[in-house]
Amino acid sequence: MSSPLVMRIMSLSINTAKRAGSIIRDVMQKGNLGIVEKAKDDLQTEADRSAQQCIIASLSKQFPKVNIIGEEGSSDLNVSHDWLVTEMDLEFLSKTCPSDLIDVKDEDCIVWVDPLDGTSEYTQGFLEHVTVLIGIAVKNSPVGGVIHQPYYKHDTGEVGRTIWGLKGIGCGGFELKTAPDDTFIITTTRSHSNPIVQSALEALSPSEVIKVGGAGYKVLQLLEGKAHAYVFASPGCKKWDTCAPEAVLEAAGGTLTNMFGDHYEYHVDVEHPNREGVLATIGTISHSDIVKKIPQNVKDALKK
Ligand code: AMP
Ligand code: MG
Ligand code: MG
Repeated sequence: MSSPLVMRIMSLSINTAKRAGSIIRDVMQKGNLGIVEKAKDDLQTEADRSAQQCIIASLSKQFPKVNIIGEEGSSDLNVSHDWLVTEMDLEFLSKTCPSDLIDVKDEDCIVWVDPLDGTSEYTQGFLEHVTVLIGIAVKNSPVGGVIHQPYYKHDTGEVGRTIWGLKGIGCGGFELKTAPDDTFIITTTRSHSNPIVQSALEALSPSEVIKVGGAGYKVLQLLEGKAHAYVFASPGCKKWDTCAPEAVLEAAGGTLTNMFGDHYEYHVDVEHPNREGVLATIGTISHSDIVKKIPQNVKDALKK
């Protein structure tokens, strides 16, 4: 008997994210990034386009009835054999599916794909910040996610790592750590700040602010014990930025919501922008205490 759908999607997503990561490295190595400005402060490169094609084609081929939404719009599914990933990660596939996910049907799944999160950083050479994000929502909520870092450097010299999380199992691919409770460290944007983003940070009086690119990489700061909270009081992030990070963080005991403390919905017809900002915290600090400290001018700006 074949494994439950969610386990198969996760297992194929792990290998597909790795392949997308190698495409991202190849584009950089060849040096012709083919930068297009989609909107103000919103770039797309050949790596975003190619990585998305690889991911969407590979997942759609094996899961034709599952809704898949990628940042870069509709993709040509006729990709070269070389870009089509067909093998699942067998180690993940051998895990026991959480009982509440065993009977999930194709039509209940929405896969949110950010083929390259941190494009600004990619074009500026901050390659560690780049991630590939594949998030699996069931009906309205993210349950599983893959965060691949194509440029992560292992001590052995090997490059790239793949982090996964599934609610009911936990997470893997890295060593989960908790930031010390005698400090309060916030991670936030390095390339999309504005006065409202700043006033939310100031109201929280952090002991340190770590400015890095990408929603994926910021949630990794939380998972690796480098920060307590990810605070971004801006409508700039989209559902593909937060689906995988939310699933992985929550599988590890944290919380990711809007700046009002409410979870976003991830159904197929939902609007893409996360208009009410992003607030993520690790499990050892109070999410609601942070929500209470957000000043009214910030709330008003996000509710517009
Ligand atoms: P950042 O934290 O600035 O690296 O942003 C995290 C994700 O949200 C990235 O995918 C960004 O491209 C996206 N994002 C954040 N703010 C904006 C914005 N003002 N315009 C376009 N994309 C944004
Ligand atoms: Mg992104
Ligand atoms: Mg992207």
